[in-house]
Amino acid sequence: MHYTGTIWRPPYEASSLLLEVTAGCTHHRCKFCTLYADLPFRFRMSPLEDIEADLKEAQEMYRRFTGRAPSRTFLTGANPFVLKYDRLMEIARLIHKYFPGMETIGGFARVTDITLKSDKELEALHGAGYDGLTIGMETADDKALRFMEKGYLAADILEQCRRLEQAGIRYSFFYLTGISGAGNGEAGAEATANLCNRLHPMLIGANMLTVYPDSKLYDEIWKGNWKEESETEKYREVRALVEYLEIPTVFAALGASNAFQMQGVLPEDKGKLLAFLDDVIKNVGEDELRRYREGVHHL
Ligand code: SF4
Repeated sequence: MHYTGTIWRPPYEASSLLLEVTAGCTHHRCKFCTLYADLPFRFRMSPLEDIEADLKEAQEMYRRFTGRAPSRTFLTGANPFVLKYDRLMEIARLIHKYFPGMETIGGFARVTDITLKSDKELEALHGAGYDGLTIGMETADDKALRFMEKGYLAADILEQCRRLEQAGIRYSFFYLTGISGAGNGEAGAEATANLCNRLHPMLIGANMLTVYPDSKLYDEIWKGNWKEESETEKYREVRALVEYLEIPTVFAALGASNAFQMQGVLPEDKGKLLAFLDDVIKNVGEDELRRYREGVHHL
């Protein structure tokens, strides 16, 4: 299989066929991000011959080792949904050629990738199997989105995700706890919950900000332009997010960036999640949480 650099995928894509169609990120500007720093280029589109060769190899491997074909493909790279409509349709055609029973195709998407497609194209992509995108929205706090140079604002998240919904394409969000900076965590979470309450994400997955020395954010801190939230404030922020969410969705904090992993279905599990977070906030000290943060060597 043609895999380039570290392959990142959400925890819930563990049983999906991972197919490399892009490597790296077209944006590559977010100040906190060091995810694709190990690549010699910012973004690369895989040749169709490589994609087809990988599908052939995967078909053989699944046949030999599991005896059954996967039902879902996860396209790798930071934002494969940026690819042009024709290219995405060609990839779907190839996937179905080697795996006729493939039910859905997902991958990471930036909000700005959706803007590039017309409503008709989104509908056709859904018809070709595209469903269950993972969007790193991070927050709906415009001040934080601007400062971190995410390249879109809260109104864009709302508009583009509504277009996905109209086309029938479901999606999950990644939220970045800590992105609003010291003193702003709970307000950022409230703004994000208010935005999510106007949409229908399948899942909201929270990751917790770890500032790495090779990030632009690290330089901003040293210049005195930004201040990191304490670890306890980050947990108060997660608590606010859960508290203000009113839509039926799954809330998860499962990645290694979270000192405490949790998952629940909202609204049923809201009380349980809040009680768990209250316990962390009350009984786990800043020093212990900070020690955990310092041991997180990568996301
Ligand atoms: S956070 Fe996502 S969009 Fe931003 S630079 Fe990193 S990979 Fe690209």
